[in-house]
Amino acid sequence: ASIAMQDAGHLAGRIQLYESGRDAAQQRQVQLIRDLRRAAQRDELLLHYQPKLDLRNPARLQAEGLLRWQHPQFGMVSPGEFIPLAERTGSIQLLTAWVIEEGLRQLQDWRARGMVVQLSLNISTEDLVDAELPTRVARLLSHYQIPPAQLIFEITESGVMLNPAVALQVLHALREKGVGLSVDDFGTGYSSLTQLKRMPVQELKIDQAFIRDLDDTSEDAVIVRSTIEMSHSLGLKVVAEGVELQRSLDLLDRWNCDSVQGYLISRPLAPQAFELWTQRPLTSSVSLVH
Ligand code: C2E
Ligand code: MG
Ligand code: MG
Ligand code: MG
Repeated sequence: ASIAMQDAGHLAGRIQLYESGRDAAQQRQVQLIRDLRRAAQRDELLLHYQPKLDLRNPARLQAEGLLRWQHPQFGMVSPGEFIPLAERTGSIQLLTAWVIEEGLRQLQDWRARGMVVQLSLNISTEDLVDAELPTRVARLLSHYQIPPAQLIFEITESGVMLNPAVALQVLHALREKGVGLSVDDFGTGYSSLTQLKRMPVQELKIDQAFIRDLDDTSEDAVIVRSTIEMSHSLGLKVVAEGVELQRSLDLLDRWNCDSVQGYLISRPLAPQAFELWTQRPLTSSVSLVH
């Protein structure tokens, strides 16, 4: 009997622990959702820059801007956590507006110091229902005196699913203004070639899931090689994301991938660290043997 009692007590304790754990997670979510709306005003947002290395022309500067949130209580909150919350609760457009403005301000600052960087920024499905987006982007580009071709928006394939008619219209309008468009996380989710053909994109980013442990013989190798070939036949540039190993880089280079991005090249960096990275000797971080 005493053993049974102990078990019951143990179980009750576990249930309680589980519930209070769930409460804490829920409370955190509620607080994050509330605080997200004020994060920009309160100066809690940062943009980090991850270099994208052009394999044919390593001197060319390209980067992806990645949003960071320094929460007053929780510290750094990952975009993997707060972006989906912002998308679900209607505050993503606020964040996107901040990201675009901050990215262009940074590009202007760099241009003034002789550094021309092509910048990729992520935008969400929810941003593409906003028919005014292209006009606002064009206004900001001219305000910060940035040539439109210096800006690329990364969208996901499912990004046009929410309201395909408006989304495609927004993408075409952005394209007409001269902004570049890229398909992010290609190969995951709703990958459809039909969808790809309808989108006015110039670049495709192969998802990190296929790149991580690339070797010559794996199934991933087949997928990656044929994606590169298909993209080139369609006139698209290809970026491989999540390159962590020299072996992957060598294969991607051999298969004519255009650009690579990943921890092997560099982690996402604060603006000053990115500036330092651009001053590295061109052969130091990765060896490109042709
Ligand atoms: P993403 O656009 O696919 O960005 C790539 C993510 O992979 C980044 O994570 C980057 O830090 C990480 N990464 C890069 N190289 C490597 C690598 O070699 N290994 C590994 N394991 N990871 C690598 P991060 O910064 O945490 O961002 C996660 C996602 O959050 C992004 O995925 C993007 O979907 C979203 N996100 C980030 N910033 C923004 C933004 O400003 N707006 C929107 N809408 N979404 C954003
Ligand atoms: Mg991206
Ligand atoms: Mg991606
Ligand atoms: Mg993504």
